[in-house]
Amino acid sequence: NLSDKLDKAFHILKGHGKITEVNVADTLKEVRRALLDADVNFKIAKDFTTKVKEKAIGQDVLTTLQPGQLLVKLVKDELTELMGGDVAGVNLSGNPTVILMSGLQGSGKTTFSGKLANFLKTKKNKKPLLVACDIYRPAAINQLHVVGDQIGVEVYSEPENKNPVEIAQNAIKHAKANGFNVVIVDTAGRLAVDQEMMDEIARVHKAIQPQETLFVVDSMTGQDAVNTAKAFNDILNFDGVILTKLDGDTRGGAALSIKSIVNKPIKFVGTGEKMEAIDVFYPERMAERILGMGDVVSLVERAQEQFDEEEARKLQKKIAKNEFGFDDFLTQIQQVKKMGNMKDLVGMIPGASKAMKDVEIEDDAFKHIEAIIYSMTPGERSKPAIIDVKRKARIAKGSGTKIEQVNQLMKQFDQMSKMMKMMQGPGGKNLMKMMGG
Ligand code: GDP
Ligand code: MG
Repeated sequence: NLSDKLDKAFHILKGHGKITEVNVADTLKEVRRALLDADVNFKIAKDFTTKVKEKAIGQDVLTTLQPGQLLVKLVKDELTELMGGDVAGVNLSGNPTVILMSGLQGSGKTTFSGKLANFLKTKKNKKPLLVACDIYRPAAINQLHVVGDQIGVEVYSEPENKNPVEIAQNAIKHAKANGFNVVIVDTAGRLAVDQEMMDEIARVHKAIQPQETLFVVDSMTGQDAVNTAKAFNDILNFDGVILTKLDGDTRGGAALSIKSIVNKPIKFVGTGEKMEAIDVFYPERMAERILGMGDVVSLVERAQEQFDEEEARKLQKKIAKNEFGFDDFLTQIQQVKKMGNMKDLVGMIPGASKAMKDVEIEDDAFKHIEAIIYSMTPGERSKPAIIDVKRKARIAKGSGTKIEQVNQLMKQFDQMSKMMKMMQGPGGKNLMKMMGG
């Protein structure tokens, strides 16, 4: 598991204020290995890590993050960028919009045609028509009809006609005459790239001039996917890629390789056999999947968002002046809470959810603490020293807690204030680390 390996590599990075050539090498070696594990082409993986290294070296680590965490974020950002940055949509211009499916047999063209029709019908308010141009297997026409029935979309087919160009052209006429505004043309594939298939799809493509030509590829085919994508792109100059069968444990390295080789956006992913199992492609999520790092990045990002440096500086001043009180404590708790509930947070730490699976985590672990603080007067909050036994009893009663719980919180607060004073070094990095980590 990459996360574990990175954890180890990060160990070396810990405590350094700058990312340097030496401390970055081990981590990037693990990243490269992770990419290869995910079936990313060797040269692409190598170029990628070299590029990240150049960007990373010399960066200051001023945030709540450890250098290792910052590096993970750099790696992820770079990977996201490589896979297309922003989300790419389908071009729905033209009336009707003509969409042509291409790809090998078994890649998921027929299934995806149905999913896309269903998506456009339910999410984009379109009236799609499905067209059966796979004329080689009678079962193929039937399969598309079954799919169409399932989603309530009409299927155009000519079982006796053996000319897919004609069928596609007739279908478009039919669509125009009957108010369909999207025409999705499902085609025949072969098990491997061959001349006949390529000639045929090229002829259909030329005849119907689709607004969108989509290349459908099974994400489990790994390295082969790159060659297939290149062959289809050379003939069709397609507009986008559909990555199917991403519901298994495939890491989807094909996404990165294909994008690097043909430089076309990945538009959708298929995540199951059902008609609803379609997702817009999010480069960022894919980057996380390829790196196999769970949600560790979103955890890092949320920490980055929540603990901004301005807040930290303000807090530091208060500590220096001995003004840190329960109101500040409350603010800290609320910051932590903004990051999500404890269960979510634990779930995002790689390995932790497994280790903690038998431990009961309170949904709101801070409930009592907050109640106690809310039951304090403003004076008590800013000068906790005045809280004597009598006041404690009142606070416990007001917050519905026991006096031991109030005592415990007072003790925690005391320790925290002391620690904060102690850890306050120049620049305040230590404090931030403590608050963030
Ligand atoms: P085609 O030959 O390109 O038209 O491929 P099909 O659409 O017939 O799909 C081939 C097989 O893959 C079928 O059994 C589908 O149910 C299955 N399939 C297609 N897309 C997905 C997907 O996203 N996830 C899973 N698990 N199976 C899929
Ligand atoms: Mg098919």
